[in-house]
Amino acid sequence: MLRAGGLVALPTETVYGLGANAEDPAAVARIFQVKGRPPSHPLIVHLGDAEQLDDWVQDVPAAARLLAERFWPGPLTLVLRRGSRVPLEATGGLETVAVRVPDHPVALALLSSFGSGVTAPSANRFGSVSPTTADHVRAELGDAVDFVLDGGPCEVGVESTIVDATGDAPSILRPGGVTREDLEAVLGCSLVVPSTSRVRVPGQHPSHYAPRARVVLVEPEKVVSEAELAQELGHQVGVFLPSAFADAPVKVQAVVTVPASMAAYARGLYGFLRDLDQHGCDLIIASLPVEDGLGLAIANRLRRAAGPRPTV
Ligand code: AMP
Ligand code: MG
Repeated sequence: MLRAGGLVALPTETVYGLGANAEDPAAVARIFQVKGRPPSHPLIVHLGDAEQLDDWVQDVPAAARLLAERFWPGPLTLVLRRGSRVPLEATGGLETVAVRVPDHPVALALLSSFGSGVTAPSANRFGSVSPTTADHVRAELGDAVDFVLDGGPCEVGVESTIVDATGDAPSILRPGGVTREDLEAVLGCSLVVPSTSRVRVPGQHPSHYAPRARVVLVEPEKVVSEAELAQELGHQVGVFLPSAFADAPVKVQAVVTVPASMAAYARGLYGFLRDLDQHGCDLIIASLPVEDGLGLAIANRLRRAAGPRPTV
């Protein structure tokens, strides 16, 4: 299917991807069409092993080499200078390319049998919640995708951490499945994380990862009272109940009790948002976790799920 220019949804440890042959500009263009994604938003090239990295980029700075050795296969994406075989369609016209080796047996089997790069964004419509099961992909993209490889639910549940490794001092472009602390421990220096309020790189718009329901973030101790008030005012409210309040009865449409473990929270996050949409909620009240470890990526996604929506 990939060799014929088709689109294949594939499981990874982060979220499901919508894959195409990275060297086939027409197939890559179809990804943007199916997702409704602006062509300026670059994609990630997925490789079967780290040895292929040099074939896809111009040069690999020492820090990038170190990170690839330590974290691949895994939820880390490296942005490097684009090699000549990467079509500009896949990079949104940029002279850099994002590359990673996913840590999922099905993805790795596909990549190694295909033998080349598969470029894949998350397998959802532009701006909406990323899919973490094959059913999410089928429900959202249906016949627009030629084949859906079902590899079970995604283990990590949030997207990869994106690191700009083009220069000597790497920086985090998007927090994700590899924590800032783990990156810093390997690099031996501290890394800055971008604020979510400004668009730093293409594809990092304030509203993204958003369910149909409007998401409102409040302090943890206000979640229950704000949610019940909104329900009384006529909203169909879904609640992300902090684990500390797990036993509180909440008079709203639907309640998700947030797992105390950040790994479990990340794994469940997008499914929770989809479930609350399914329950007919028009408003979701949530609070932010402590922003360390995986909490940083979770908070980033919640902020952007709550971000200003484009006016249609
Ligand atoms: P996704 O949004 O899940 O499709 O993952 C792709 C993301 O990778 C994009 O939204 C960008 O934020 C990021 N990305 C890909 N290529 C580049 C690049 N060359 N420079 C900066 N960010 C990139
Ligand atoms: Mg995406």
